[in-house]
Amino acid sequence: MERDQAGGSPIIVLFRDDLRVADNGALAAAGATGRPVVPLFILDEGGNDARPLGAASRWWLHHSLAALERSLEMLGGRLFLRRGETQKIVAEAVKETGAGAVFWNRRYSPAGIAADKALKSGLRAQGLEAKSHDGFLLHEPSRIATQSGDFYKVFTPFYRRLAEDDVRDPIDAPASLAGWKGKLASDRLDAFEFLPTHPDWSSGLAQRWQPGEQGARERLARFVEDGLDNYAENRDLPGIDGTSGLSPHLAHGEITPFQIMAALRRRRGKDAETFRKELGWREFSYHLLFNRPRLHRENFRPAFEAFEWQEAPAALKAWQRGLTGYPIVDAGMRELWRTGWMHNRVRMIAASFLVKDLLIDWRTGEDWFWDTLVDADAASNPASWQWVAGSGADAAPYFRIFNPVLQGEKFDPQGSYIRRYVPELAKLPDRYIHRPFEAPAAVLRDCGFSLGKDYPSPIVDHAMARDRALEMYRGTREG
Ligand code: FAD
Repeated sequence: MERDQAGGSPIIVLFRDDLRVADNGALAAAGATGRPVVPLFILDEGGNDARPLGAASRWWLHHSLAALERSLEMLGGRLFLRRGETQKIVAEAVKETGAGAVFWNRRYSPAGIAADKALKSGLRAQGLEAKSHDGFLLHEPSRIATQSGDFYKVFTPFYRRLAEDDVRDPIDAPASLAGWKGKLASDRLDAFEFLPTHPDWSSGLAQRWQPGEQGARERLARFVEDGLDNYAENRDLPGIDGTSGLSPHLAHGEITPFQIMAALRRRRGKDAETFRKELGWREFSYHLLFNRPRLHRENFRPAFEAFEWQEAPAALKAWQRGLTGYPIVDAGMRELWRTGWMHNRVRMIAASFLVKDLLIDWRTGEDWFWDTLVDADAASNPASWQWVAGSGADAAPYFRIFNPVLQGEKFDPQGSYIRRYVPELAKLPDRYIHRPFEAPAAVLRDCGFSLGKDYPSPIVDHAMARDRALEMYRGTREG
């Protein structure tokens, strides 16, 4: 009876971390009914223990929503924007439009899961149709378990388990939508104040990225065409454009892992396998988050709860600003500040430096990344930080302490990455680019470079810091 009444009524489609029209199960299902579609984005910043978005993510979100508005208009729809508590805003929108159904794509942050569960039962209790779809992840974290029914804590068996499931094909974007022509209050995108103004630090982000579905699609096509060959080797070299750069597009759902898997379907060999495995790490991070919802606050290994992290505000500031005196760390931190992204190899080195050389709590670093990364991700960020710190599942062993000089020399042998982001070192010969503090005075003079003035001396001696960390970390071995 309820359904009959709802027959031609509008369907509200919620947009959250799925800012796309292609491979969007919720939008496709709503469009296929021929009923009017009301696309709705709700800025819900409170309640449910939600983690407020970082500044770089907000910048991205502004541009991504603008792109989505345009895509929906081309299909005959209109994106409505509202701010407030999700359940309340949905209830208002249902009332204002007379909608009979609400569709969405599932999200996987703990707060998102809780909010959507409550939303679903609330809508169903009123006799409305509430339907959720996949898209953000290839595999539902709730359905993956070990033979004993536990969750996976080690990546390799987890990844092997994933191979047992088929991955569906992407779903086409609707050819057109029956747009909702009635009244519904909507905020203006500018009113969300996602863009930085005083100061506006976003020019480097705008130079590097094209937020939105179109940008994501172009990046994937370019990567499959030019970047995939040799990915397995090139992915470790920060000086070249050797990775896909898809992470911010994935974080905002402008592209789905299903679309990426489909684009790689006919590609065999080491490079494609390595790339698929990286997507597997993304799935693994969500598997951990699903089973440990406080992953960004609580050590996965309990032994780490007793670890005595240091308060070192001056060192923290030097790290954040890229002024530690270790060129590869500083280049990474400046790449992050300027572009909202950092190369994976350098993320590991910079994170290791913070937690092992400076003994600063990984949560402090995770918070900084959360605020500054355009791909800040509720699962991959804390899971990766805990991996580096050694406190995580399947983590780097406590005695793995990256040597920032040797890592730099191995992965950026000519120092091209350093020269790009730490230009004051640009004139140093390759031999000293990763260790300016060892360059003879005559070499420095020839380059017109003064250590301690143009660029800092190391804020900590790595050899000493390594011994200190090993000593302190020994207590966590049993964790
Ligand atoms: P590609 O090499 O092209 O990989 C393709 C995709 O695979 C990525 O877009 C990403 O979705 C996934 N992926 C690759 N490596 C990893 C990994 N180690 N863990 C999980 N997924 C992976 N990634 C984020 O997306 N968001 C984060 O907030 C984030 N924080 C990190 C913090 C630290 C300390 C470290 C060491 C890593 C972090 N990563 C994070 C993982 C990784 O650095 C990025 O996913 C990668 O650099 C993104 O660049 P890309 O898209 O060019 O990667």
